[in-house]
Amino acid sequence: MQIPLLLTPGPLTTAPVVRQAMLRDWGSREKDFAALDAGVRTKLAQIANAGSEHTALLIQGSGTFAVEAMLGTFVPKQGKLLLLVNGSYGRRMATMCDRMERSKQVIEWPEDESVDVARLAAALESDSSITHVAVVHVETTSGLLNPVEEISRVVHAHGRRLLVDAMASFGALPLDLQILKADAVAASSNKCLEGVPGIGVVLCNITALQTAAGNSPCLALDLHDQWRGFETNGQWRFTPPVQIVAALNSALDLLSEEGGIQARLARYRQNAAILLAGMRGLGFTLFLREEVQAPIILTFHPPTHPQYNFDRLHQGLLDRGFAIYPGKLTKAESFRVGCIGQIFPADMNRFIITFKSVMSEMGIH
Ligand SMILES: *Cc1c(COP(=O)(O)O)cnc(C)c1O
Repeated sequence: MQIPLLLTPGPLTTAPVVRQAMLRDWGSREKDFAALDAGVRTKLAQIANAGSEHTALLIQGSGTFAVEAMLGTFVPKQGKLLLLVNGSYGRRMATMCDRMERSKQVIEWPEDESVDVARLAAALESDSSITHVAVVHVETTSGLLNPVEEISRVVHAHGRRLLVDAMASFGALPLDLQILKADAVAASSNKCLEGVPGIGVVLCNITALQTAAGNSPCLALDLHDQWRGFETNGQWRFTPPVQIVAALNSALDLLSEEGGIQARLARYRQNAAILLAGMRGLGFTLFLREEVQAPIILTFHPPTHPQYNFDRLHQGLLDRGFAIYPGKLTKAESFRVGCIGQIFPADMNRFIITFKSVMSEMGIH
C-alpha cells in the first residue's frame, strides 16, 4: 500500500529520521532522558527568541490539551477572558472557558476577516473586568493569519495579558517573544515543527507562571505544577511520551539543519505559491484574500460542476498518494490543502498534475 503524503493541517508527513528516532525505549527517570527533555525545551525556547524570563513547557496530548492547559492555568477563577474569534479554533477556546467556568466575552469576525484591533481596543476600554485576551495566530479553519504583534501591542497598552494559540504557525512563521508580549503561547509537536503528534508545547512567561499556582481546574493540565515538576527534578509529573520527545528532538535538529524557521517558511511559501498558481490554473478560487492568507493551509471553493463530489475527489487523490482535508467553514462548502510538513515544491507540482487527472476522471474539465 502506498503511504500518502499528508496535505492536511496535521498530523503531517514526517521525515524518516524523525520516525527512526522513536525506535528505542527510554527510562523516564534516567539522566539521559532528562537531558533529552532539557535539550528539547531549550531548542523550543530559542525558536521563539525567548529570554531568561520565559520557559518552554511540554505537556502530554495534542494541541487542544496545550490550549486548554494554557487557558486553565493563566486565567484565574476571578479573571475574565476576551476571545477574538474568526474560526472554529477560536470558538473551541470559548467552549473551554464554559467548561472551566471562566467568565468570557467573545468578539467574532467572519471567517475570512482577520482581527481588527480597533474593536479589540474598544472592548478593553469598555470592560475593565477583562483580565486576559486570547487569539489564534493562524486560524486553521481557513488558513487566515491574525496580526498577533499588533494585538499584543494593544493588549499590553491596556494593561491586560495575552494568550496565543500558535499551533499552526509555530516553527515556521516568526514569533519573537521579545516583541510579542504574551503570558503564554501554545504550539504542538506535530505541525510546523514536523514532529509526530502527542506533545503540546507552551512557552510561558515565568513571572506569570509563578502567580498562576492553584488557578487550574484540572490536575493533569496544570502548567504551573508541570513547571514545578520540571524545575524540581527535571521530570514530567506523569508518564512522558518518551519516544515522541525523542522524535521531537530529532525534528528540531532537522529544522536547524534546514536553516531554521526562515528557511522552513521559505519552503512553505514556495509550496503555497505552486499550489495557488496550479489551482488557479485549473479554475479554482481561493476562499481568503491573499493579504490575510498564511502559507500553511489553503481553502478553496469547490467546483460548481454537478459531477463534483468531495468524497470522490478525496478518494481519487488518496489512491494516487495524496491526502487532502474537507473544509471546516461554517457557511460555505470548501476543501483545504496543506503546505506544511515534509512536503517539497516537487510534491506540489505532482499534486497539481494529479488533481487535474482526478478531476478529469470525475468528468470535470
Ligand atoms: C491543530 C490546531 C489545534 C489543536 O488541534 P489538535 O487536534 O488538538 O491537535 C489548535 N489550534 C489550531 C489553530 C490548530 O491548527
